[in-house]
Amino acid sequence: MRAPSTDREIIVEAESGRVYVDRETGETLEVVGKLLPLAPSESKLPWAVEHLRFCNWCDQLAQRDLNDCPHCDRRMDPVA
Ligand SMILES: [Zn+2]
Repeated sequence: MRAPSTDREIIVEAESGRVYVDRETGETLEVVGKLLPLAPSESKLPWAVEHLRFCNWCDQLAQRDLNDCPHCDRRMDPVA
């Protein structure tokens, strides 16, 4: 995230819907980048808790828009 007046950038583990404020200037921070899963993942979703679920086979985290688990390659149950 970036503070518009100073261009100071920080990395935060942000929650969607929350507003983050710069500690020095008090202004609202702009989102300038999101962490995305590395290739060769098929997922287009940012790596964030609300987009993840547990594989029913190996119990590892996987993005909700994937059908096959990126860890064990098995077909996961449909998202409830
Ligand atoms: Zn798995």
